[in-house]
Amino acid sequence: MHFIDLDRFKSINDSQGHAMGDRLLRRIAEMLVELIGEEDTVARIGGDEFAVLQSNITGPEDTARLADLIIARLNESEHAPEALNVGASIGISMAPQDAQDAESLMKNADQAMYAAKLAGGNMWRAFAAEMGTNSSQVVNLERDLLNAIAQREFVLNYQPQFDLRTGALTGAEALLRWRRPEAGLVPPGHFLSLAEETGLIMPINEWVIHEACRQIGDWARQGVTGLRVGVNLSPIQFRRRAIAKVVAAALAETRIDPRALDLELTEGILLRDVDDIIPQLNALRSLGVSLSLDDFGTGYSSLAYMQKFPLDRLKIDRSFIQGLAENKNDLAIARTIIELGHILNLRVVAEGIETNAQLALLKAEGCDEGQGFLLGQALAPDVFLNELVWQKSQASFLCAARSAR
Ligand code: C2E
Ligand code: CA
Ligand code: CA
Repeated sequence: MHFIDLDRFKSINDSQGHAMGDRLLRRIAEMLVELIGEEDTVARIGGDEFAVLQSNITGPEDTARLADLIIARLNESEHAPEALNVGASIGISMAPQDAQDAESLMKNADQAMYAAKLAGGNMWRAFAAEMGTNSSQVVNLERDLLNAIAQREFVLNYQPQFDLRTGALTGAEALLRWRRPEAGLVPPGHFLSLAEETGLIMPINEWVIHEACRQIGDWARQGVTGLRVGVNLSPIQFRRRAIAKVVAAALAETRIDPRALDLELTEGILLRDVDDIIPQLNALRSLGVSLSLDDFGTGYSSLAYMQKFPLDRLKIDRSFIQGLAENKNDLAIARTIIELGHILNLRVVAEGIETNAQLALLKAEGCDEGQGFLLGQALAPDVFLNELVWQKSQASFLCAARSAR
């Protein structure tokens, strides 16, 4: 049996409305019914949970094939109105190998689903006996996450960004970390999807905006100005036009120069109702902050839609940077994105630069700014200040890389 739980359904429901959420569930049900064989059964077993009972299987290849198919159909993201464009976590358990009765079959599939979710979602996992503790892990994670804000366990680390022509430090991307007791510094990939699902992402995101502004103000008081700090936004922040208010409040409270704040949007945000999003983006822009389009190249990225939005910067997704030196296609894509950005009067930022070869190619292609492990990891704010602003060590490193070319 397949236990299917949609990823981030809550945030879809919140940002697009319940009517859209209901419609999506109905279309998913139809898709599942269409996909399965005559002997199989589909049921909706919870808000955004479905189960598929697959009969007549000869082995795990059969269940894997169906789970792959379900995820592929859910992921389809064509512009066509029938595209579902949603992720799901699927847990698979089999009888009689994994369970002898219906109840434990279901329980095991549920547990496998949690394993898929914990691993980041949008994948399937087959049940394994050692999975026993995973669902309680999720419960603990949720409970700890709930307390994390009050306990001041979140921190922002700052990954430097450089002007690729001059080597000058231009700013940093603020990246969220959770200092979870007994677990160390937890990266956002491990808790963001759960935070989105539980709605906890709203207060977390608000905290991030306030904290970034506070930090900018703190640096300004120490004489550090002219740096731009990028903050990642979630689609959910655009529901009910809340985002401009949050940003305005943070700016007013910290009295920072709004030009020091850059908001990173993903294409997922822009794909919502355009008539709803553009006024919100204009409202943000009129506060004086700048807007970047993050992970560019992975989504829809069409020229027609790019022109509609009031953007300042494009960030080339790191998946294209990775293969830059080896893969001709990646180089062609990066080159096209840089050209496209410049035609649209946007600054282009490459992220995920890990090697000197990648850096050299991006410079040669006229990319404006860069960020990546080669140039600097995300650092605690005081370390960032000491190592990058006062000592300028990375900037000279960039110049050295340039002369070596
Ligand atoms: P992102 O916006 O694409 O952020 C860049 C991610 O790439 C960061 O991971 C960063 O550490 C990593 N990275 C930077 N340079 C390199 C490199 O050279 N090579 C490789 N392989 N990776 C590099 P991180 O910090 O784990 O963040 C992951 C994602 O979590 C971010 O992806 C962003 O979507 C999200 N995120 C991070 N902070 C926040 C936040 O405050 N709020 C929200 N809503 N999302 C956040
Ligand atoms: Ca980002
Ligand atoms: Ca990115």
